[in-house]
Amino acid sequence: MHEITDPAMGGVVGAVTYDTPADVDAAVHKARAAFADWSGQPPGVRADVLLKLADRMAARAAEYAMVESGQTGKTLRLATEFDVPGSIDNVTFFAGAARNLAGLASAEYDPDHTSVIRREAIGVVGSIAPWNYPLQMAMWKALPAIAAGNTIVLKPAEITPLTTLMFAEDAHTAGIPAGVINIVNGLGPVVGEALVGHHDVDMVSFTGSTPVGHRVMSLAAKRGARVHLELGGKAPFVVFDDADLDAAIQGAAAAALINTGQDCTAATRVYVQRPLYERFVDGVSDVFSSISMGDPRDPSTDMGSLVSLAQRDRVSAFVDAAVLRGAKITAGGVLPTGFLAEGAFYPATIVTGVTQDDPIVQEEIFGPVLVVLPFDSDDEGIALANDTPYGLAASAWTHDVYRAMRAQREIRSGCVWINDHIPIVSEMPHGGVKGSGFGKDMSIYSLEEYTAMKHVSWDITGVARKPWHRIIFADRIPAP
Ligand code: NAD
Repeated sequence: MHEITDPAMGGVVGAVTYDTPADVDAAVHKARAAFADWSGQPPGVRADVLLKLADRMAARAAEYAMVESGQTGKTLRLATEFDVPGSIDNVTFFAGAARNLAGLASAEYDPDHTSVIRREAIGVVGSIAPWNYPLQMAMWKALPAIAAGNTIVLKPAEITPLTTLMFAEDAHTAGIPAGVINIVNGLGPVVGEALVGHHDVDMVSFTGSTPVGHRVMSLAAKRGARVHLELGGKAPFVVFDDADLDAAIQGAAAAALINTGQDCTAATRVYVQRPLYERFVDGVSDVFSSISMGDPRDPSTDMGSLVSLAQRDRVSAFVDAAVLRGAKITAGGVLPTGFLAEGAFYPATIVTGVTQDDPIVQEEIFGPVLVVLPFDSDDEGIALANDTPYGLAASAWTHDVYRAMRAQREIRSGCVWINDHIPIVSEMPHGGVKGSGFGKDMSIYSLEEYTAMKHVSWDITGVARKPWHRIIFADRIPAP
């Protein structure tokens, strides 16, 4: 058994047995066996059981939140107000959305044929999820897939499998047939690769870091399997000189510190136009310095711990290395002492005085660290926002409608917020461009990802010798 530990307060919160490649093979077989029945159900039947699942999860919402907080170190408030309700909303959204797939109208696009578009389930989907929002990521992977009629084998991150197992248990109780949702546990290079490389997995859906995503894609490419990749982010937060400074400071703090910064869309790089720069740095540093860190279950705690001591050390190493290169720390930046030193705690940290090419600006840190840099012209602000390998999310802060219009058009990312940063809804797509991957989670667009489009063309003439056969038999079929 592998114990799952609470990275904030210590202690064991659960345990799982790691699966073997043979177990993965058995899970894929179960998913394959369940596919014909499940994909053959009318969408309304699948929707009914998904709605029962939503009810079941809502009845256990407090337990889900407690377990999610326990295995990740995130605050119970975040799990209660964001992770769990967001996940349940996803279930109800996909229950409805799968009944409303759209396509081109069936019609005669030439006089001799009626064309019909079908959207069909792809088959067995192998899904791999990260640890930052374990329940939500499991939902984003599983729901569009199963709502569309696929069956799945899902591997949660090895350090945070518990709420994914609760979800699978509730899906079973709600009436989702055996074999539709299969969970496998274990390490990425062993269990993940066995899943990605399995010959009978029709599609691989991965959310995680960019390097692992590339590895997953290369394994899937060996057999030409369809791939969906949601990868890392390094979201820019661009503050123009007409912005509401207070709103930008509050917004940057909330957007950088949500989930202790372990959010692929978190604000990580703030670019502030020169006239506001000093005041922004002072203001945001004050807010960061006021953040209380501690027991994630204490309602007065603002920020919990990182997911593991290894992640804390990684974040700390990023900041320490930047300091050695001349970075200035205006809040945080020092590992806590006392009982917090035992857990994976790292303080809310502001870094200034670095250049655009510094690793702390270019690379994903995944911690409560915000880098602030100045810019002069609008051109420069937008160019800096685009200057990393990532393209997942971004925000622009301005009251000038033309600046806002320009920013939403020219910043290359899967999402651009105007005067806010973070809110998401089940109806809208989430997914990146550039090094952040491709494909969409949530929304009707994710149903497109998990379905294959089929064109069915019906002859409506009943004629044996069709006019187009002239291409082959010119001398035997008269010209029109
Ligand atoms: P990770 O890439 O280390 O691991 C993700 C998953 O992949 C885990 O389940 C892991 O066990 C598995 N894995 C690891 N090596 C593997 C391999 N060789 N083959 C198959 N599977 C393997 O990522 P993480 O540290 O768990 O999560 C953080 C990352 O996830 C960040 O980069 C973050 O930006 C990204 N993320 C992206 C999104 C998005 O929607 N774009 C959402 C959440 C997290």
